[in-house]
Amino acid sequence: MERSSSNNLPLVDSHLDLAENATLFGRDLTSSVAEIRAVEKRAAGQATVSLPELERGGIAVVFATVTAGFLAEDVGEGSEPGSAVYRTPEEAETQALAQIELYERWEEQGRARIIRSVGDLDRHLRLWRHDRRPGLVLLMEGADPIVHVPDLPEWWRRGLRMIGLTFGDTRYGAGVAGGGPTFKRGGLTPDGFELLGQMADLGFVWDISHLAEEGIWQGLDLGFPRVCASHANARALTPTDRHLGDEVMRAVAERGGVIGLVLYNGFLDPGWRRGEPTSVTFDEHLRRHASHIANLCGWNHVGIGSDLDGGFGLEESPLEIDTVADLYRVGSVVPADVREAVLSANWLDFLRISLPQTS
Ligand SMILES: [Zn+2]
Repeated sequence: MERSSSNNLPLVDSHLDLAENATLFGRDLTSSVAEIRAVEKRAAGQATVSLPELERGGIAVVFATVTAGFLAEDVGEGSEPGSAVYRTPEEAETQALAQIELYERWEEQGRARIIRSVGDLDRHLRLWRHDRRPGLVLLMEGADPIVHVPDLPEWWRRGLRMIGLTFGDTRYGAGVAGGGPTFKRGGLTPDGFELLGQMADLGFVWDISHLAEEGIWQGLDLGFPRVCASHANARALTPTDRHLGDEVMRAVAERGGVIGLVLYNGFLDPGWRRGEPTSVTFDEHLRRHASHIANLCGWNHVGIGSDLDGGFGLEESPLEIDTVADLYRVGSVVPADVREAVLSANWLDFLRISLPQTS
């Protein structure tokens, strides 16, 4: 499936750390990827994502993350850059608000559109056919920036529509950052239960990525109505607790959720090690994960949550990826009759049933 400039399929990527790469790490995402690489001169973790590259790749909708940065307890006090470290909920809040402000600035500058409702989504997709500007659905990854549960309506007002409760541990629950072979214990805290209840009432989507499995079941058992995994692969193939077991994936699909495939080598091939030449491919490794999830859940519950540049870069991405504009190549591992669904329609349908009609 080669892409041509006349291709009007609006691709969806359900997980990209756009603002964080700017506010924490000083990357200018309004530049081309070639310019970012030339400025940074990195030997590893080279950029693959920027706003012009999203336009070039026909990526019409991105779940764009809002993060706290990194908890000092997790990464150590001396961790660099210091701007990426937080110690208190208030520092996490400041970081997250700076990221929302960046998304708002991009919107004011006409570089992107924030999608807050189904009405926004439909209008955006009409405009996108002509201007190719990416649409952003704001997704909080790790809820430490929510200082008090009663603050939630204010976050909604700022455009946030999706929340994952944890990255590492937060005061809302036990989290699994990168994952390991031992099963992380612990679930939701009392604050986590309260937050999830308020999220359900206000209309937020719950992203289960990075939550320890006990917490996932606690939330599912409450009957949370709008659930997805913005970026996770199959634990049966990459056996760490960062990924989803078969039963969890089935339960997400039964509730109408979608699971976004992560395009990080370490998550696609458990044998791959950082620093090794890339031997991971869509054709072999991504195909296995996609087929496994589709066999359990059906292709209508499979999407792309690439996480490109989310703590890794070109050297840690499959061979088919030079930049995010290569996302369409995921279609090569998906049966032709469901290609459009996986690349686009599954996530768009999920947004249509999950977002409010108007903002
Ligand atoms: Zn993540």
